[in-house]
Amino acid sequence: MIITIDGPAGSGKSTISREVAKRLGMRYLDTGAMYRAITLLALEAGLVPDRITESGELAAKTVLRLEGRPDDLSRVFVDGREVTDEIRGSLVSKNVSAVSAEPSVREVLTTRQREEAAKGNMVLEGRDMGTVVCPHADLKIYLTASIEERAQRRQAQLRERGVSLPVEQLAQDIATRDSYDSGRELAPLRKAPGAVEVDTSGLTIEEVIQRVTDLAHPERGLGGFVRGPLDTPPYRFAYSFLPALFKLAFRMEISGVEHLPTRGGVVLASNHLSNLDPFFLGCACPRQIHFMAKAELWRSKLLGRLVSAFGAFPIHRGEPDRQAVKSALEIVKGGAVLGIFPEGHRQQGGRLGEIHPGVTLFSLRDDVVTIPVVLSDTDRVVRKGLLRFPRVHVLFGAPLEIPGTDVPRSERAQITADRLATAYSDLMGETKRAQPQTKAKNGRA
Ligand code: C5P
Repeated sequence: MIITIDGPAGSGKSTISREVAKRLGMRYLDTGAMYRAITLLALEAGLVPDRITESGELAAKTVLRLEGRPDDLSRVFVDGREVTDEIRGSLVSKNVSAVSAEPSVREVLTTRQREEAAKGNMVLEGRDMGTVVCPHADLKIYLTASIEERAQRRQAQLRERGVSLPVEQLAQDIATRDSYDSGRELAPLRKAPGAVEVDTSGLTIEEVIQRVTDLAHPERGLGGFVRGPLDTPPYRFAYSFLPALFKLAFRMEISGVEHLPTRGGVVLASNHLSNLDPFFLGCACPRQIHFMAKAELWRSKLLGRLVSAFGAFPIHRGEPDRQAVKSALEIVKGGAVLGIFPEGHRQQGGRLGEIHPGVTLFSLRDDVVTIPVVLSDTDRVVRKGLLRFPRVHVLFGAPLEIPGTDVPRSERAQITADRLATAYSDLMGETKRAQPQTKAKNGRA
């Protein structure tokens, strides 16, 4: 697959392209960095402003290398010399448009970019990727944003590097570069035919990434695994009436839901009393939950299909299940909600069970928020084969505080498990149900 991402300066191309490449397991090419590197050399050789036409020759004999991980070729070398930082300087930024308008330079770099693209599986970022370099790309994106927003982003970027410039000056520089890049004769900045325009003004980086990855894999959606909320028809259908029904039948009370972040990767870690728990949680949670569910459910083809349609995926308990871990990681990395029952099995009589530190694996990521949830009385819904209607309470707790990476990993996992246990215990104390004795494990009282 080839994805091209074009757009004006500061529209978010680099951040988005890099992250999309990473999430979709693709390679990444920053073609602006190539033009910048040649501009640096042309400046050093004294070819700017009067002998720019000679820059093509210079480009042809230069060995240009972009290095780093395959999805993050962010280090730039010319003839073995690293110029990663120098090419971002203001002198290069001011002159790059003039050098890149030079036909002989474009010819050399376009050929090199096409050679890279021919190797396949790549996100190419620039100004003419969709129009000239890869007009037959599988997905072409044209990123835009208002000039004010682009100037503000550039200012924040520079500030991170310790450079402080007024936003008005940056807006002016960007406007000049825009008009140069779109006004030039050869390969001007344009929205390519068939490109999808994404205006990033007012959107978070995560929202833009999700939009692009969804466009890249409409059938798989978010992070290459599951789509966003209310995705499948059975899910949509069930949750169009279940919350109202459950509220009525079980006088379901929901508290603390404001703790759940409205977007981004979340681990929803719930206690487990009944096979109906995923439905109670599904009704209480405003975002679709993707449950890790026991693999036995998939033994029946029909049931397996149904639970898959609800966004669940199988885990083989009692053995290392790499596929389940991979799927769970894709969910949280893709910015969706992963539902887990850290106690592993349903607990009798409303008790809290032991929490194995291994289940905190997903919570230790720094792009994930872990929310503890406690359900009460769901084990009383079906008793002796009869349906009953106890009052059910669903309590969401505050995000769990995860120890920093300075703490050794095994210790982090244990501390996280202990904190989760304490959070359950505290939340259980707030439910209507009289607290049965809990096991004194994981640091619980
Ligand atoms: O993307 P970045 O801002 O680093 O690009 C720097 C400059 O390189 C652009 O302003 C443009 O003049 C030039 N460029 C180009 N064609 C590309 C990529 C960048 O002309 N494909």
